[in-house]
Amino acid sequence: MRYISTRGGMPPKPFSEILLSGLSPDGGLAIPETYPKITGDELGSWRNLDYPSLAFEILSRFVDDIPSEDLRAIIDRTYTADNFGSSDITPLRTLKPDFHILALSNGPTLAFKDIAMQLLGNLFEYVLSKTGETLNILGATSGDTGSSAEYAMRGKHGIRVFMLSPHKKMSRFQTAQMFSLQDENIFNIAIRGVFDDCQDIVKAVSNDHIFKKRHRIGTVNSINWARVMAQIVYYFKGYFAATQSNDEQVSFAVPSGNFGNICAGHVARMMGLPIKQLILATNENDVLDEFFRSGVYRPRTTSETMHTSSPSMDISKASNFERFIFDLTGRDAGKVTELWSEIDKGRAFDLSNTTLFDRIKSFGFISGNSNHASRIETIRHIYNKYSVLIDTHTADGVKVGQALRESDVPLICMETAQPAKFSESIQEAVGFEPPRPAGLEDLEDLLQRFIVKDANTEGIKSYIAEHSGC
Ligand SMILES: *Cc1c(COP(=O)(O)O)cnc(C)c1O
Repeated sequence: MRYISTRGGMPPKPFSEILLSGLSPDGGLAIPETYPKITGDELGSWRNLDYPSLAFEILSRFVDDIPSEDLRAIIDRTYTADNFGSSDITPLRTLKPDFHILALSNGPTLAFKDIAMQLLGNLFEYVLSKTGETLNILGATSGDTGSSAEYAMRGKHGIRVFMLSPHKKMSRFQTAQMFSLQDENIFNIAIRGVFDDCQDIVKAVSNDHIFKKRHRIGTVNSINWARVMAQIVYYFKGYFAATQSNDEQVSFAVPSGNFGNICAGHVARMMGLPIKQLILATNENDVLDEFFRSGVYRPRTTSETMHTSSPSMDISKASNFERFIFDLTGRDAGKVTELWSEIDKGRAFDLSNTTLFDRIKSFGFISGNSNHASRIETIRHIYNKYSVLIDTHTADGVKVGQALRESDVPLICMETAQPAKFSESIQEAVGFEPPRPAGLEDLEDLLQRFIVKDANTEGIKSYIAEHSGC
């Protein structure tokens, strides 16, 4: 298995060589040369596997330059009951016979990003230990991604994390989650500014190629292929849990932002998993819904991007979307390059009057959007009807999924975060505070470890230089 770029400008590379990289040198995203096809016999033999064994079967088809026993060991120490609350890792909750919720948010930071990020932490540590190299991960966060990355990288040899966040602008829970980490390889940097200031500093540092090389700066953003790959596994797991035989189909409803989660569903379907519909749900930031309904992909400006009550889906453009368009064009790198030359100039593209737009249906995609009133109503409805409490992101998926599903195909809604993280909206919907998972009751009282800095790139660079260990 080798990897190419969606823009055609990268010689095929093995997994370990794309693992640590962000964008390909030509500006595209790494993608497998071909998707592994799963036969009916293989699918049958996977049905009763536990999560780590299933993960090994799937990941070993994408990773062939790490010895099998090492890959198996990395997977085994990632997907433990200790880390994810139960040996199911992603338990399926059946609300009624053809309506399920797949719980993806039982990891250390209570959001689905842990499933991929925890694997990434162990993969990075393994690959770095082989070469004796070190890595300084630099990121900007307004919540979920930063804490998920920190919990995945804490205590890892050869890895340090420098995470910028807007000072006093995150929720108390999210702040406490990140800042209470006492590990010496985690550097929480609170910036006097807003999230965009943090992101601008990360961009400026990444554009200084000499600094970046000297201090071995890397990222763990959502375009990392290994993150998408790790997420493929739970589509199989959810399918097996919701069906009796491999002749059945299911549909998935996926609360979406950067198109990472649903991209994994798309790959699972391309591998042969019997998925009928991939139902994409956005919040008020509906750039993806607009594309799937009209054929126009128009990334938004920062000022057009709204702050909503499902904040982890507040995106202006969908960084993983290029991978789907690559497949939609029949893997035409020239076409993708042409389309993204418009996007990179701050413009839009329109596929509405092309055969490509008609082809979207054959990939199973359908989409809808949600808003604050709908998600509050959905949380209330699901609680009143099934006594199950869901978070705001999951509610967007449930709302759109119920509206667009085919009635004779079972629906699996992805639960992407736990309600405890969004107590204000839960209070609004059901009139009480969501319960905290055990062990996190006093999170906000823990000692916090962070520094406060001005939104100044040079100041951050010298801080990194001092603490990067290289
Ligand atoms: C990141 C995130 C999403 C969006 O996932 P994408 O892979 O970016 O589409 C949805 N819900 C929650 C809780 C998230 O943290």
